[in-house]
Parts: sequence; structure tokens; C-alpha cells
Amino acid sequence: MVKVERSYPAPESLAIEKAKSSGKYDKPDVIEKLKRDFHDKCYICEMKGLQDPVVEHLLPHKNGEYVDRKFDWDNLFWSCGHCNGVKNRKEYDIGIIDCCKRDPEKLLRFDLVEGDVVVCPFDEYDKGAILTAKLIYEVFNIKNTGMRIQKSEHRLKKLQVEMNCFYKLLEKYKKFPGNKRYRAMLEASLRRESAFAAFKRAYIRKRQREFPELLEILL
Ligand SMILES: [Zn+2]
Repeated sequence: MVKVERSYPAPESLAIEKAKSSGKYDKPDVIEKLKRDFHDKCYICEMKGLQDPVVEHLLPHKNGEYVDRKFDWDNLFWSCGHCNGVKNRKEYDIGIIDCCKRDPEKLLRFDLVEGDVVVCPFDEYDKGAILTAKLIYEVFNIKNTGMRIQKSEHRLKKLQVEMNCFYKLLEKYKKFPGNKRYRAMLEASLRRESAFAAFKRAYIRKRQREFPELLEILL
């Protein structure tokens, strides 16, 4: 999870639909804006190019019971169906980190240790961060249904492949430090909009003595 810059004003359809008895929060203007703002990346698992995107409510609207939440632009997020489903549990109702308002990279430590996802809050008393760390771990590991085994494993595999490519690229960059092509590839790979950016950016932060000149990309 990385910081996302939400654009304003809110899509026009939200206010129009809110006034209706069975209005929709997923009209084309909402979808287009969310997809663009979130760089077509699930804000929870950071997988790109989603085949099953959904409009996620950060705070649940409970089947329309909370009308304000249902149509509040600040409460709508771009997610994959898997993460949306995993998050749909009472314990997450109090609210995970709002990545449009708080920078998750300043609140959570992301790591891949021997192929396993490790996400920890920096502040052990920050409830939103604790909950977010748990959710991110879960979306890569939950196996309580046959389909979720597939979907969790698919995400973990994609993350591992991305990280392995990233490590290889770093090795090449270390070998040929002046190479502009490798530097440009690293910059692209470390941008917030790239897949699994939080993990790659955390890797560089952890090795900042080795790669001090790459820290500027993380700003
Ligand atoms: Zn996801």
C-alpha cells in the first residue's frame, strides 16, 4: 500500500445518484476517475491491471444503511475483488489506513522474507496501522476457501516474481552504476504507481547505505 493522490472535484454522478432511492456509486465517471487516480492498481495488494476491479468502500455502507459513506468520494477506493472480499469482515469496519490521507510507507514496514509477506506497524498502538498490516498479510495468505487459496497464492507468486526481477535489476545497476537505462528502469520500478511498489521501496530504504542515490526516487 502506498500513498495515492485523489483528484477533485468528486465525480458528478455521486451527488445525483445519492438523491435517488436506489442510486449507483459506480457510474462510468466514478470508475474512470478511480482507475486513473489509483493507477489501475489494487490499493491493498498492489496488483496492477485488474481483471476484476471493484469500487471498495473504506468504511462499509452496510447495504446502503450509511448513505453518506456509500456516495462519499473520499470513501471510494480501487481494489481487486479478492481484497474487497477479504476486507469484508466486521473487524475491519473500524477503518484501515486511508492511503489518500496518510502515507502507509510512514506507518508500515513492508518486507518479503524468504518468500513470505511481512508487514508490521511502526507504532504498535496505531490501530489503523495494525489492522492494515493484518489485512495486507491476509490477502496474500488467506486460504479459507478453495478459490481464496488460488487467489492468495496468485498474488504472492506475482509479488515474488516482481521482487526477483527487481533484485536482478539492482544487481545490474550495481555492476554498471553509470548505465542510464538501468537507472531509468529502476526509477520506473520504484514509482508509487508500479506493482507492489511498497515492497520495492522498503527494500531500498532498508539498504540506503548501499544505494544512497536511489533515495531521491522515493520522495
Ligand atoms: Zn488486491
